[in-house]
Amino acid sequence: MILDKLKTTAGVDVKGKRVLVRADLNVPLKEGKVTDATRLERLVPGLRDLADRGAKVIVISHFGRPKGGPAPEFSLKPVAEELGRLLGKPVAFAADCIGAPAVAVVTALKPGQVAVLENLRFHKGEEKNDAGFAAELAKIGDIFVGDAFSTAHRAHASTEAITHLMPSYAGPLMMEEIDALRTALDKPKRPTVAVVGGAKVSSKIPVLTNLIAKVDKLIIGGGMANTFFLAQGVEIGKSLAEPDFAKTALQIMHDAKARSCEVVLPHDVVVAPKFEAGAPAKTVGPLETPADQMILDVGPKTIAHYADVIGRCHTLLWNGPLGAFEIAPFGEGTFAVAREAAKLTKAGKLVSVAGGGDTVAALNDAGVTDQFTYVSTAGGAFLEWLEGRELPGVTALARGA
Ligand code: AMP
Repeated sequence: MILDKLKTTAGVDVKGKRVLVRADLNVPLKEGKVTDATRLERLVPGLRDLADRGAKVIVISHFGRPKGGPAPEFSLKPVAEELGRLLGKPVAFAADCIGAPAVAVVTALKPGQVAVLENLRFHKGEEKNDAGFAAELAKIGDIFVGDAFSTAHRAHASTEAITHLMPSYAGPLMMEEIDALRTALDKPKRPTVAVVGGAKVSSKIPVLTNLIAKVDKLIIGGGMANTFFLAQGVEIGKSLAEPDFAKTALQIMHDAKARSCEVVLPHDVVVAPKFEAGAPAKTVGPLETPADQMILDVGPKTIAHYADVIGRCHTLLWNGPLGAFEIAPFGEGTFAVAREAAKLTKAGKLVSVAGGGDTVAALNDAGVTDQFTYVSTAGGAFLEWLEGRELPGVTALARGA
């Protein structure tokens, strides 16, 4: 297995070496201030370790989506300042990630010091995985560390091309993420259950297809359950659904059966006339959704059933909310099942791995993020991993220079 070839810098002499760390500094900013520093906080121990071992640490990252040229609103300068605050020491900043400005800052670095270089996406070569741009980056360092799992599903110059040019290692966050996903997906303690929710079946067909081949139980919730109901001829009123994908839903159920994967759908649902705060909500059976109402959450019987299914499993993978959790009271199903999974995890009975933007937000709202075994903040890369796809930024590190 190529992933077994991934190596870290543990045991590598980094003293006095220029270590180029591809991180994900893509944090939310408001009026020049970082509003959620979680990503930076997670990065700090790894950077500190390299600095303590005498490396000259050079952090590179993209930030937002500039259109291939410098744009002040996409500068990493304020992020570098916040990183310095978290590290407890000044962080040098270079106004360009390649060329004279980068060389000047890096040349001035002493062992144990840290620099951040300006947004990689100010150069078109980054997203084009351009070998010339990667060569410019490689000039700045002696060793490369890939520590941004969240961008590993893209073959960009700083995640893929660069690994052909320098000794390359996986960073601690990258390893943590891969270990969590492999534990849950490739070598799980059985039985395993996947919870897949969210708005649409169409965006998660590859995820569902891959998971039915791997897990023992597949719990389906959220808007996508409506399409499964529709496929079985169940009336769903005004609910969000994708009639064009009803056939696909049936096929998924059929394939799951052939692979002895049990598909679990809601037993009761919470309906309301509108998706609106304070809309009068009521619980009905799946065959009883009134024509003028929409399904916005799973009901109490479903919560109890899902909790029971999860309680009989040892490994849980979760992507997507079970209802329209952003508006009360339609988050109750997601929150209750999340609390149950957290409880089982705390009791040592369950390995729980969750990921994806909305899922993280829902787990945060439920107050259980810290109690899951692992919660991935990588959206696209997490989903592609669940789809069973190879991530170029991970394969490149495993293959080596
Ligand atoms: P996704 O990005 O596909 O994981 O979908 C997440 C979105 O699905 C969230 O914004 C939820 O509000 C929405 N969602 C979940 N369940 C429902 C539902 N029953 N009806 C409408 N939207 C839903």
